Amino acid sequence: MRPTYRVTELLGDGIGAELSQAVHTLAEALPLDLCFEPVDLSLENRRAARDAVYDQAVASILANGVALKYPTITAEESPNQVLRRRLNLSVIHRPVTTIPGVPTNFRRDLDLDIVRIATGGTYDDPGRMIGNDGAVSLRIVERQAVLEAARYAFTLARKVGRRVTSASKYTIQKATDGLFERVTNEVAAQFPEVEHNVELFDALLAKIIMAPDKFQIVLVLNEYGDFLSDMACGLAGSLGIGASANLAFDASGVVRVALFDAAHGTAPDIAGQNRANPTAIFLALALLLAQLGETGIAQVLKDSTLDLLRRGVRTRDLGGSESTTSFTAAVAAEIRSRLEPVG
Ligand code: ATP
Repeated sequence: MRPTYRVTELLGDGIGAELSQAVHTLAEALPLDLCFEPVDLSLENRRAARDAVYDQAVASILANGVALKYPTITAEESPNQVLRRRLNLSVIHRPVTTIPGVPTNFRRDLDLDIVRIATGGTYDDPGRMIGNDGAVSLRIVERQAVLEAARYAFTLARKVGRRVTSASKYTIQKATDGLFERVTNEVAAQFPEVEHNVELFDALLAKIIMAPDKFQIVLVLNEYGDFLSDMACGLAGSLGIGASANLAFDASGVVRVALFDAAHGTAPDIAGQNRANPTAIFLALALLLAQLGETGIAQVLKDSTLDLLRRGVRTRDLGGSESTTSFTAAVAAEIRSRLEPVG
């Protein structure tokens, strides 16, 4: 019997509709049934339905546990921020890999899993002026958020056989970053089979550039994760092709809700022209399948997409001539051929 999963599909703006079509075509090539439950998060519907559309999205995501989100316009509010707050999405997992065919100034291969605590740090307090010429803001590090992120990072490491590097400025930010490293060490002790290294964050940036193969899963606080993700994407040659998992946990640290999305925006300049590159949303779907426990199929989806790019089957943004639909058909065919029983 084919396994069946319910997935909340958060429809968006711009190229979102084409990406959704591409995802549905691809889903048909998979040996499982994904029942998509759509919620319309387009700007038009958000303006018409207001809070009700978020209530609907949150209820659907909580019921299904997993969601795939297409890019949305940020106007009155950022849907990403609203969902992050309402679902308590406290950790972001952002794989960053050099992608064949994507031009880059960097001559080495990069294959990082950045696990970032998505709350606190310096980002929850915009700060305030003290007199006319001074300003202050609070930096917050909470044990629970570090625990969740560290457990996620080490569980991932154990599952895929990778090592974990935690990085911070614990020698200077003794209380906050010291707490982060202490909690991380407590979690590391529960995973004796996983190799764990500690780096100072500034040194880590230099080392990733000089010896990227030494780093696999990197666990960091909010602002460091923000800087590191963009630097890594820059090295990999594209801010546009990445995908991420946004995660919320139950009291025992198990993932309760996971929302997957592409890093790029709504690309209004090419919307409706069958030119959108669906690579990032396909990689987001692969992350979603892995979260559902379908790691083998997730790997086939990811490898099929990347191998086609390597062989020059690419959309126009990557210098190729494929359309959204022809690239999608090629990935679907590749998946089918890889999953066909031999003989
Ligand atoms: P938003 O305000 O939603 O972030 P934007 O246009 O400022 O939209 P992006 O959507 O990331 O930012 O687009 C930046 C550029 O990259 C645009 O020229 C766009 O066409 C291109 N682009 C982004 N995503 C894709 C994609 N999936 N396929 C092809 N081109 C893309």
